[in-house]
Amino acid sequence: AVRVRFAPSPTGFLHLGGLRTALYNFLFARQHGGTFILRLEDTDRSRLVPVAAQDIQDQLEWAGIPPDEGGTKGGGFGPYIQSQRIGLYASAAAALLESGHAYHCFCTNQRLELLKKEALRSGQTPRYDNRCRSLHPDQVEEKLSSGVPSVVRFRLSSSSEPFEDLVFGFTQHAVGQVEGDPVILKADGFPTYHLACVVDDWHMQVSHVLRGSEWLISTCKHLQLYRALGWTPPTFAHLPLLLNKDGTKLSKRQGDIFIQHFRQQGALPEALLDMVTHCGSGFHSNRVGRRLQDLISEFNVSKISSHSALLDLDKLPEFNRVHLQHRLEDEVLCRPLVEELRDLISQCFRDQIEDQDLLQKDYLHRILQLRKGHISSVKDLITPVYLYLWLRPSVSRQQLEEMSSESPEIISRVIQVLQEEEGDVYTVEDLNDKLKLVSKNLKKTKYSTLMKILRLALSGQQQGPGVGEIMVMLGRREVCCRLQKLLN
Ligand code: GLU
Repeated sequence: AVRVRFAPSPTGFLHLGGLRTALYNFLFARQHGGTFILRLEDTDRSRLVPVAAQDIQDQLEWAGIPPDEGGTKGGGFGPYIQSQRIGLYASAAAALLESGHAYHCFCTNQRLELLKKEALRSGQTPRYDNRCRSLHPDQVEEKLSSGVPSVVRFRLSSSSEPFEDLVFGFTQHAVGQVEGDPVILKADGFPTYHLACVVDDWHMQVSHVLRGSEWLISTCKHLQLYRALGWTPPTFAHLPLLLNKDGTKLSKRQGDIFIQHFRQQGALPEALLDMVTHCGSGFHSNRVGRRLQDLISEFNVSKISSHSALLDLDKLPEFNRVHLQHRLEDEVLCRPLVEELRDLISQCFRDQIEDQDLLQKDYLHRILQLRKGHISSVKDLITPVYLYLWLRPSVSRQQLEEMSSESPEIISRVIQVLQEEEGDVYTVEDLNDKLKLVSKNLKKTKYSTLMKILRLALSGQQQGPGVGEIMVMLGRREVCCRLQKLLN
């Protein structure tokens, strides 16, 4: 059975890189009728951020890719939080000590610091010199029994453990020749990432590990751990790094890649998912507008490229526009958008709204339908250009008469022709025919001036969308009401 996991460390809010990793695991699980696990890797106690675990779960839920196991879901392989699984790591470490694959290390921080400094001074990469490997068992016994603080290190082999990565292909790296033996159990009894990750992937029966390519070298160590423990390793697929479009590291500093940030900005989850798959590759085509179902059916691990993926955040509005259109075309998905628009309007213009008609569902629904394909967020509709939709403009009769002395006459004629028919809805073509007719019977006013007068009367603005469009959005009733006021 396919079992995959997303294993973030709760050291910060979920960001786009994490979302991409989670998504690819989710897609892989769905494609194979498998299970998607969420495991929190919280063994580095010094870097924990208390709200991070909750944020990660919330954002996955919001994005529509919640775990099948782990977090609040539970499951048969729990607990899914590493700090609650300490016993498992301790016994794995004990087994490794027992078989001679691991050893106690008593080197002080001071000594390790010194090693590091010396290496840096001579231009080398710092590495532990494996000194405690060669301690005599009696020395070890003595130090342990007299309570000298110690860690457990894994004895890296100098040969490599080649493997076939689903993305990077044949991979081998003799880590033991370049790195010192890694700590697997710290002095406080907590495991480090390497041990905890291997122990959990094994115990949770993870079949495939899909994770960022920054872990590729770690995998070489993990494979040695699997062998030492006598366990069969899972299959690995390392996802290319996610970079800014200029090739720099995805920045977290301004908080601009956190999912909650995009969410606050009004991004739709499906737009974010679609966007991260575009730069992450793994699909046959690259059309914008793939929904989760499409992603599941079109995803193909073997199509993931090993090149770094460039993320162009400037394209998000475009993804959002297309996905908003999808939602607006769906009767059920459209409803909450109408509510959202209503809430936004009430919040923003609370005391200024004169007429509750402008908050009616039918009215809001019509406007959303007419603007779909043009807006990339419901929030766009509360910007100044659309203000006239929610607040009646204050325009004086005098302003209109300055444009043409015939203004009052024009306005009453327009009201007249509009009232010839019933209902609130009409089309732009309809209107244009009618307005042309009105303009023919005028002596002093050109058609274009007529349109300018109407635009000002209805929107309070000199520029903006076509007059026909404004009239269709406002609807017959509202248009007549606004015009009538100017005659009173
Ligand atoms: N805890 C690691 C991280 O924060 C997980 C890496 C892995 O998936 O093995 O990314």
